[in-house]
Amino acid sequence: MAGAVPDRSRLARSCLPAPVLDLSAALKEAGGQAYLVGGAVRDSLLGRPVNDWDLATDLLPETVAALFPRTVQIGIRFGTVLVMRDGTPYEVTTFRLDGVYSDARRPDSIAFTGTLEEDLIRRDFTINALAYDPVENRLVDPTGGEADLALGLLRAVGRAEERFQEDGLRLLRAVRLAAQLGFELEADTYRALVLCAPNLERIAQERVRAEFDKLIEAPQAASALSVMLETGLLRRALPELAACYGVAQNPHHAFDVFHHTLAALDAAPPERRLVRLAALFHDLGKPETREERAETAAFYGHQFVGERLATSAMRRLRYPNEEVARVRHLVHHHMFHYRPEWTDSAIRRFLREVGTEHLEDLFALRAADTMGNGLRKRIAPELTEFRRRIELEIERQNALTVRDLCIDGYDLMEALGLVPGPIIGRALSALLEDVLDDPSRNEREWLLARARELRRAEANDGA
Ligand code: ATP
Ligand code: MG
Repeated sequence: MAGAVPDRSRLARSCLPAPVLDLSAALKEAGGQAYLVGGAVRDSLLGRPVNDWDLATDLLPETVAALFPRTVQIGIRFGTVLVMRDGTPYEVTTFRLDGVYSDARRPDSIAFTGTLEEDLIRRDFTINALAYDPVENRLVDPTGGEADLALGLLRAVGRAEERFQEDGLRLLRAVRLAAQLGFELEADTYRALVLCAPNLERIAQERVRAEFDKLIEAPQAASALSVMLETGLLRRALPELAACYGVAQNPHHAFDVFHHTLAALDAAPPERRLVRLAALFHDLGKPETREERAETAAFYGHQFVGERLATSAMRRLRYPNEEVARVRHLVHHHMFHYRPEWTDSAIRRFLREVGTEHLEDLFALRAADTMGNGLRKRIAPELTEFRRRIELEIERQNALTVRDLCIDGYDLMEALGLVPGPIIGRALSALLEDVLDDPSRNEREWLLARARELRRAEANDGA
């Protein structure tokens, strides 16, 4: 995609948040310079929503901190002072010149150089190396960033290879920003991605994860993952997904597993990151389980292998446990096969297994999976019926978990003279099975009588 014409009127004072103007004025009054820098200038010129408003100045961090009453000095060693305004943090960073990069991760030393140009040319991409003085209404663009915005090109500042050697995270930032903005990677920058891909292995997994999450949410995420595959970044960041490339499927699918996965990701709702992750991971088990069957292929149990691989990949990338749990659950259950002849109790058992809190995500994943096969254009009609029957079942408020039973563990202990222990949980689970079969049994007398009966049978078995 070509870029849009960068629109400087979007940087007019009336378009900027009041705190940005206040902070700039205060920095200038104190005798310093004040520029809006980085993503805020880029996104304003493109007419895109701005994530964070960062300012740069020649004043030293201590001076900046003394100017404003409410600051957080977490980044002060790196020259950054966070100024809070109406609950929003604004970063004010002293012009920096990054020192030698010995470990391809963090600069060893940072000099506060005092010049804006030096601060800009240490930045990663030309479109990020822009600064704007809102008081003087002046754009500073030492690397041709505005022209690249117009061309829709993502280009490293200076020699791409050197920039990627200095900091391997830039490899992923390149792919992520191109995906977010719908930009092309400039040819030298692309070549350097291939050459420097091994550098990604030296980057902390948390930083990789943060970029990867932004990439997953981008509208062009699928093409970004293709670029990652071509450049060798994918087999370093997510080898499980790279292994899906070229794994042929059956005649129900137009694509191999990798391209099906990308199509499913594309079809998943952009605002639901965990569903998008589940779409990306749902078929990771296919390469391992593939079996050749008379002109077709079978992938028995791939959802369970996929669950294992998704879990280990997410743990490696340091995803929070709760997110790992939700995604693995979706991968585990993505193969459900509803049939119209299912009884109501089969529906209740499905709900018990999946959990009503995961239904929306699971159906969104199924829709993405279906749309991603490249042949079908709509969701199967029986799924709509399945949804309707599920809604009905939920409306009826029948018991789906042991917590929904009208007796609890204390009732059981009292009625049967039991002491606390695993036996209570087992008894409640057995009662739930009876209630899932016939909800009218969820009634105190029936449940206690049944519990006694089960207890007697168990005692006889044991004798
Ligand atoms: P986003 O819209 O996600 O915030 P961004 O480009 O603003 O994207 P930030 O991480 O907020 O990204 O960084 C702010 C600015 O700092 C960037 O625009 C860029 O100029 C610079 N920058 C960030 N990370 C790097 C890096 N690894 N190497 C060089 N410059 C960087
Ligand atoms: Mg930013």
